[in-house]
Amino acid sequence: MNGKVKVLKDEVIGKIAAGEVVERPASAVKELVENSIDAGADSIFIDIEEAGSKLIRIADNGSGIDPEDMEKICLKYSTSKLENIEDLDNLRTLGFRGEALSSISSVSQFTVISNTTSGEEGHYLYVEDGNIKELKPHPRSKGTTIEASNLFYNVPARRKFLKTNSTEMGLIVDIVGRFILSNEKIEFKLTHNGKTVLYAAKEKALLDRIKEVMGKDIADNMLELFVPGDHTNYAGKLKIRGFISKPSITRKDKNYQTFFVNGRYVRNNTLSNALYGAYFSMLERGRYPLSVLFIEIDPSEIDVNIHPSKLLIKFQNEKYIKDTLVKTIKETFEHLRDKQSTIIKKSTNEKLETKEWILPEELQKEFLYPENLDQKKESKRDNSCAGYEHLNTAEASFRQQTPIFQVAKCFIVQVKKDGLYIIDQHAAHERILFEYFSKRVKNNDMDKQNLLFPLRLDLSTSDAAKMDDLMKTFNLLGFEINSFGDNSFIVQTIPPILKNSDIKTVIMDMLSDMAGEKNVNIDPVENMIKYASCRGAIKEGDELTIHEMQVLIRDMENSELPFTCPHGRPTAFDLGAIELEKMFRRK
Ligand code: ADP
Ligand code: MG
Repeated sequence: MNGKVKVLKDEVIGKIAAGEVVERPASAVKELVENSIDAGADSIFIDIEEAGSKLIRIADNGSGIDPEDMEKICLKYSTSKLENIEDLDNLRTLGFRGEALSSISSVSQFTVISNTTSGEEGHYLYVEDGNIKELKPHPRSKGTTIEASNLFYNVPARRKFLKTNSTEMGLIVDIVGRFILSNEKIEFKLTHNGKTVLYAAKEKALLDRIKEVMGKDIADNMLELFVPGDHTNYAGKLKIRGFISKPSITRKDKNYQTFFVNGRYVRNNTLSNALYGAYFSMLERGRYPLSVLFIEIDPSEIDVNIHPSKLLIKFQNEKYIKDTLVKTIKETFEHLRDKQSTIIKKSTNEKLETKEWILPEELQKEFLYPENLDQKKESKRDNSCAGYEHLNTAEASFRQQTPIFQVAKCFIVQVKKDGLYIIDQHAAHERILFEYFSKRVKNNDMDKQNLLFPLRLDLSTSDAAKMDDLMKTFNLLGFEINSFGDNSFIVQTIPPILKNSDIKTVIMDMLSDMAGEKNVNIDPVENMIKYASCRGAIKEGDELTIHEMQVLIRDMENSELPFTCPHGRPTAFDLGAIELEKMFRRK
């Protein structure tokens, strides 16, 4: 009998391993741009077609590749950057494992044109299925052009695994955006199907680069980190610089928190926890500040090798890093206060002794309640709750007779003669909004309310691409959003039921919810309704007036499925006399 276990051929092993280095077009772009940076290029052009599945082309003006190295670069573990194990500790290059080109060339139709001199003569290399098919002289100015065509053409399983073009391109835009932020001296241009998506000229400073990558709305609200002394050197060991958001500008996820350690983009909990901690008392629950921060530290103080894609790093002395970052951020706010506030300054001594850092009241107001939050506060007082019409007085006075309380800024408890009604305010409101939107969309009679002042959104390039995709779906729900060119959009109308919500935040949150949605089979309209309901609903932590609670209870009673929210969690419990008796084992 023939056994079933077979040893895989090298070629198959290679393709499987390649998938671990180049998971998707964006990871190939990352590896190739890193190579250009390592080669000392100060101009890098990236051309993408069909979100990278058709073509990824990177052209640089770096050192070029020696003709005799051309046939070696696609071999596994071929690198010019590392020779001995000791070199690992002093590494200043982005690449060192010698795996990128071998992986990419084994899963694409792969071309390299490169020249190390300023003369005309260069070389051309063509590799298919990991085998060199052609190597010949070819003219090129100094530098390297690498083309990977039809990525994964020979690994259909992986090609099928790719997400929609807008998702894959979004990831490429994110990655190139990070290179633009972290390489201030390098010119970058990213095009997609011939259209320029991102461009940063050589002389563009960091804040201009933030504007190009994250959009004007964000760039206008960033604060430069204030570092006393020589402006970059903190306590001699660690250099921190960059920009952080005003506390009034937050996001529902950490996607806009960028940290670079020794020039490398990283995700690191020590850093994001420190950022969160520094803002903590100024943040709404579940909201995160934004950052573009650069940390420089002796490479021997970190371990970059704990994750193959080098995104994750570990600091040897986490506490020191955390304390320093928190202190620097707090000092930035304090510095701003010194500049802005007219409050009598405390004596220097006193300031040094203050252990707990508290944002001065005046500044707190500016930070915590920017215009839109102020409006929200006002609207609470005017007795109308998230788009509800007023109750008629007879009904209202009847309800006034049954006491209603808000408990823990999260639950509404109504005491009735024969029991208790307990409601989760967010889940309940979400259910109500969900039914409102579903009904209107189904009957195609969505109300729109004109905004007195149309709202302008200046988005980042990747958010703008998401918006282009989703504009029509937004319109179905009553948001009339139109493109205004240059990553800008104008919101003309909103669904009236959301008139008291902070519309910009609701839209931005929905955009990132929808973009993060992995399942392409979900109906986009239904999905949008789900997110609009969640984002538009009263949150845990919102204080409600008696009237608002009454309206909520009334609408709950009128809804079709009052006892579960669209996520299936319970919205309310009706504890009647029988349930209470059971709880106390009287029955
Ligand atoms: P690594 O970057 O880890 O060394 P790669 O597989 O990414 O491994 O690249 C292999 C080698 O090819 C590099 O070490 C470098 O010598 C050369 N190389 C790749 N891309 C370029 C480029 N754009 N310019 C100059 N040399 C390059
Ligand atoms: Mg490399």
